[in-house]
This record gives sequence, C-alpha cells and structure tokens, in this order.
Amino acid sequence: MKPAPFAYVRAGSLDQALDLLAEYGEDARVLAGGQSLIATLNLRLSAPAVLIDINGLDELAGIAVEDGVLRIGALTRQRVIEDSREVERDAPLLTMAMPYIAHPAVRNRGTIGGSIALADPAAELPACAVALGARIELRGPSGPRTVEAEGFFRGLYETDLGPGEVITAIKVPKSAPAARSAIAEFARRHGDYAMIGLAGHARVDGGALADVRLVFFGVGAKPIRATAAGAVLEGRKIDDAAVAAAQDALADDLDPSADLHAGAATKLHLARVLTARVLKQLAGGAR
Ligand SMILES: Cc1cc2nc3c(=O)[nH]c(=O)nc-3n(C[C@H](O)[C@H](O)[C@H](O)COP(=O)(O)OP(=O)(O)OC[C@H]3O[C@@H](n4cnc5c(N)ncnc54)[C@H](O)[C@@H]3O)c2cc1C
Repeated sequence: MKPAPFAYVRAGSLDQALDLLAEYGEDARVLAGGQSLIATLNLRLSAPAVLIDINGLDELAGIAVEDGVLRIGALTRQRVIEDSREVERDAPLLTMAMPYIAHPAVRNRGTIGGSIALADPAAELPACAVALGARIELRGPSGPRTVEAEGFFRGLYETDLGPGEVITAIKVPKSAPAARSAIAEFARRHGDYAMIGLAGHARVDGGALADVRLVFFGVGAKPIRATAAGAVLEGRKIDDAAVAAAQDALADDLDPSADLHAGAATKLHLARVLTARVLKQLAGGAR
C-alpha cells in the first residue's frame, strides 16, 4: 500500500521543529528513524498532513556522561548505542537489549527516542528505561521538562508526551559498580517483537540483592514493573527458594491478557520461566 499524501519539512533546528509542531498540531508527526512511522503511513494506520523530519538535528544525537548520568540524545541510532563503550560501561542493560531489537538494518536507522515515543508494549527499550530508573527529557511549547520513565508510559502506545512536545534525550543514571543487569525474552523468530520479555536491574551486595527492578514487556499495555516479585527478592541471595518466591509473587504483579501470540495462562507461565532466567543471569554476574 502507499501512504496518504503528506507534506514534508526537514527541520533545520529544534526550535524550528517545535514551531512547526505548534503550527500543525495534531496534523503533524515527527519523523525520526521512520522504522515504525513509515510502516504505519504505508498501512494507512496514520495519515498526518505533515512530516517533520528531525534527522538533520545533530543536537538531538549523541551520548555524553554528565554528573553521573548517561545522556543519550533522542536521535541516537540504536546501532550506535549497541556499539557504544560508554553505554556498555555505564548502562550495560541497553547494550544487552539491542540484539533483541529487530535486525541490524532496522537498528541502523531506528532511534532510542523513536522507540520510547512509540511506546510499543512489546518493545525492549521502554522496559529497559523503567528498569534503569531513567528519565525522559522533553521539550515543548512550555520549555524543557524531565519525567521519570516509570510514569512516562501510560497505556497502549500512550505516553506523557504532550501536544507539541518532542523527546530530546533519555537520561540514565550510571550503573553502580555493584549493579547487575539482565534481559531475556521469547519471540517467535529472532528479531521479532517479543511475545513476552523481562528486563532486570539490581545491586548485588555480598551476593544479596538490593533495589531490584524487574520490568516485563509484552505482557500488558505498557512496561509492567513487578514490584511484588522485586520486594520478595530484597536482601536475599539468588537460590532456588528465592526464585520460586519471586515466581509466586508474579500473580500479584501480572494480569496478562491473551494476544495474538498466547493466552493469559501461557504468558504467566512464560513470565515465570523468564524470571528464573533473568535471576540466574543476575546471579551469574551479568553486568
Ligand atoms: C522489521 C522491524 C522489526 C522491529 N522489531 C522491533 C523489536 O523487536 N523491538 C523493538 O523495540 N522495536 C522493533 N522495531 C521498531 C524499531 O525499533 C523502531 O525503530 C522504533 O520503534 C521507532 O524508532 P524510529 O526512530 O524508527 O521512530 P519513527 O518510526 O520515526 O517514529 C515512531 C513514532 O515516534 C515518534 N517520534 C520519533 N522520535 C520522536 C521524538 N524524538 N520525540 C517525539 N516523538 C518522536 C514519531 O512521530 C512516531 O509517532 C522493529 C521495526 C521493524 C521495521
């Protein structure tokens, strides 16, 4: 299929992009990597009057370490994040997550900001952002603001992004030396969106877990933080009993609904399997 006709503007600056968004309102869409947007245009799931291309805005791309925080510009390509030594050192969960996202050709174009803005419930990066306690930096008509990733995702493809706002960066606290990260998922084929996945981040002090953040994707309308499972793991060493306790606590955290891939009972079963796998990775010293 072909998209409905649209106008195209290549923004020369962030201010110009914001002015255009203010001018066209609901009729405009920001074009980043285009890996999701162009498909929705071609399928006529979306028919904006204007595309505002932000690909020329170098100020939105790049990775910097500022005051203990890794600041990843919204336009930074997923492939750049995958290959970044800073990310591997300071937020290794993102490095681990990248190979699960589509294929290299998609990651060469797809951006972190596009994935966070799209908020696909089965996407890896929104869940990783919540697991890492990241903050989303936005700019809009009222100026800049920053929101916790955990509150940013509101529902199915629904975020806290307000009218005329763009994501400018994702800010990730640098992982502490004792921090451990892990990710696992089930997908029908490698590179497909996950049927269900789990991103985990915790501190491991003398073998005992602290600040456990387990975040599921593909199991609800948005990333789901398993707070009950996290709570039963606090202060415990990862052994069979701890894994079983966390698995049992999932009944309080998850209320999966059936989707194209699996029924609710299967999803809950897979969530238990992923919990064991992710905890094993954390125990094994995954960074
Ligand atoms: C074959 C294929 C397989 C894929 N598999 C996966 C997968 O397994 N896991 C996964 O997570 N993703 C997957 N994707 C999606 C891919 O990661 C996309 O690149 C990503 O979701 C969107 O990023 P983008 O830069 O391409 O955004 P675009 O497609 O350009 O935009 C997506 C949406 O976000 C908005 N947007 C983009 N940037 C901003 C910004 N800075 N501020 C505000 N709004 C913005 C756009 O207006 C649009 O509504 C797949 C894509 C393809 C084509």
